Amino acid sequence: MPKNRDAARASLENLYRIFTVTEAPDSTLGAIDQAITGDVAGFLQTHIVAIERSLEEIEADFSSFAVPEEPTYVSEYTEFVKENLVAHSVHTASPAFVGHMTSALPYFMLPMARLMTALNQNVVKVETSKAFTPMERQVLAMLHHLVYRREDDFYPKWIHNSQHALGAFCSGGTIANVTALWVARNRLFAPEGEFRGIAQEGLVRALKHRGADGIAVLVSERGHYSLGKAADLLGIGRDDLIKVQTDENNRIDLQALREECRRLRERNVIPLALVGIAGTTETGNIDPLEEMADLAQEIGCHFHVDAAWGGPTLFSGRHRHLLDGIERADSVTIDGHKQLYVPMGAGMVVFKDPTALSAIEHHANYILRHGSKDLGSHTLEGSRPGKAMLVHAGFSIIGRKGYELLIDTGIERARTFADKVRNHPEFELVTEPELNILTYRYCPPALQQALNEMPAQQRTGINLLLDQVCQLLQKYQREAGKTFVSRTRFHVARHDMELTVLRVVLANPLTTEEILDAVLAEQCEIVQRPEIQTLLHKAEELCSCLPKAASW
Ligand SMILES: *Cc1c(COP(=O)(O)O)cnc(C)c1O
Repeated sequence: MPKNRDAARASLENLYRIFTVTEAPDSTLGAIDQAITGDVAGFLQTHIVAIERSLEEIEADFSSFAVPEEPTYVSEYTEFVKENLVAHSVHTASPAFVGHMTSALPYFMLPMARLMTALNQNVVKVETSKAFTPMERQVLAMLHHLVYRREDDFYPKWIHNSQHALGAFCSGGTIANVTALWVARNRLFAPEGEFRGIAQEGLVRALKHRGADGIAVLVSERGHYSLGKAADLLGIGRDDLIKVQTDENNRIDLQALREECRRLRERNVIPLALVGIAGTTETGNIDPLEEMADLAQEIGCHFHVDAAWGGPTLFSGRHRHLLDGIERADSVTIDGHKQLYVPMGAGMVVFKDPTALSAIEHHANYILRHGSKDLGSHTLEGSRPGKAMLVHAGFSIIGRKGYELLIDTGIERARTFADKVRNHPEFELVTEPELNILTYRYCPPALQQALNEMPAQQRTGINLLLDQVCQLLQKYQREAGKTFVSRTRFHVARHDMELTVLRVVLANPLTTEEILDAVLAEQCEIVQRPEIQTLLHKAEELCSCLPKAASW
């Protein structure tokens, strides 16, 4: 570190410098800048170190609580960033990181993102985002077209319409889902006669106006937790986010859904929305969207499809039929930062009815004036970055056919991996991949056989031990830092109990079959650790002391 220079000082001269000077290429930051420009994958590979360091140890570097009194040199600070932040980051771009929905980015996203940052537009209003406003509106129209395929003369009328918006761009699927249900709520309690609408009068008076005792949202038990936040925020209450049971394929049980609707009627609670999931976060399954659309129509409620993960499947000629019925949804959420391969912080929701977003329209005097094209009049968020630029870049550069290839490859790879798991004696496939997500667990052959032969109530003890095996296995694998899968817990119909399972998401096109083999091989090695062996022996003992397993 350059200790032989004067300390950085807070002076006007230095202030001017940080707003005007660009970084010399031989400085620490300049060198990083060049490195990530030249070879971002190589940079991440070399600078994220696999040294095992606990979160607590890392916390120690981030524990001072007062803003530093004195300025510091950029290079000095950059050294800190390199050593303490970059080095211990998670290598989400690694092809062996197959546990979460965050994967590698196409190289052009980085320079485009820097350009976006340099322009520093605020798309809340046209006055700070000329060009970015029409561009964002175009992105929303493209997504709308992907989902709804309206006729060609539909779009010219709405795409740049100053009164309306085809959708809302936001920071992610959570805000997209909140926005969709917010619109649904405000449309359910629209102004009518004396009643000036829920936006004006609030939920209590809105319910009184309708003579109802509550409103509810229905989704399968695989629904994303963001819906719980929405239920809380919108005054629905988490109790009335009704989690409907799923069938053996993790899809909403339509019979149970109808039953829940009937129960709501008995309680004088209005169903505000049915939420279908196109790609559940845990298992990647898709609800029966056509049938849900029928039911929503029948009971006259909003139909939202949460396609945060699975939406881009619509790009695939081969697989888009899996989402049939999505075009009948009143609103659809799609995340940009998942399968559109855009950096974190990009979500979208589109509405079938181009006037739907008027239900949450908001105006202010200094911006968002009536009749202005300000995007902020139809969004939950206020100031926002020009992230739509990166979706625009992806759509333009990768194109429909490029995304199709990404989607098809991911699904293909998930099937390959499922076959490997199925054919491996020591693993049990828990959920088949409908898209590119699957779950499985470690379960040696003797235990698999015993579980198959045992009556349900006797399996619990063994499954509880296997849950612990799964948990430790995932933890040790993560800590070793070579490959990564995630884990989750849900009710598995076949075992009729909640199980802890390993979860794999195959979205990185660079993940090869060899890597998938390596994931399983590493897991077989990890289970040899004494701690895990002890658990497995206990499970085997449970088998042998049960009468049914005596012969085995
Ligand atoms: C990821 C996800 C969300 C939430 O999106 P964020 O971008 O994390 O806010 C909602 N629903 C589903 C199905 C998802 O997979």
